[in-house]
Amino acid sequence: MEGCIFCRIAKGEMPCNKIYEDDDVIAFLDINPINEGHTLVVPKKHFDKFSETDDQELEILIKAVKKIANAIKVAMNADGYNIGVNNERVAGQLVYHVHFHIIPRFDGDALENWKGKNVSSNELKQTCEEIKKVISFSY
Ligand code: 5GP
Ligand code: ZN
Repeated sequence: MEGCIFCRIAKGEMPCNKIYEDDDVIAFLDINPINEGHTLVVPKKHFDKFSETDDQELEILIKAVKKIANAIKVAMNADGYNIGVNNERVAGQLVYHVHFHIIPRFDGDALENWKGKNVSSNELKQTCEEIKKVISFSY
């Protein structure tokens, strides 16, 4: 995909701090890390976003994410990690080449986890029904 930063990194046309590579996947440090060791795991094939990525590619990717995340935890002496995918602009996606973030977490780090909303059981039930309807049509 012409002009895509992550395609260029995957092809070796742009530099990165590469921590892992195989035939399908490349993983490198995020240029603006949220925590030390923040890594992006990227398929070599271009897909704009998570929701458009082949199932087969996702299988390969998630296995690589697990292996790399566990290695990062050991290497960084982290206490845990977050794994995230931003899908579309509203969710914070800036680079339109699908990627998983691995963010090491340390006890006492200053990052705040998302807080849940208080909702009624009726609201939950209604939301549940709305989603179930769409899932039954799509799959
Ligand atoms: P998004 O917001 O799309 O989920 O995440 C894109 C991530 O890519 C951001 O965290 C950003 O810091 C990182 N990023 C953007 N451009 C580059 C780059 O050229 N090199 C590296 N290593 N990371 C980048
Ligand atoms: Zn790309």
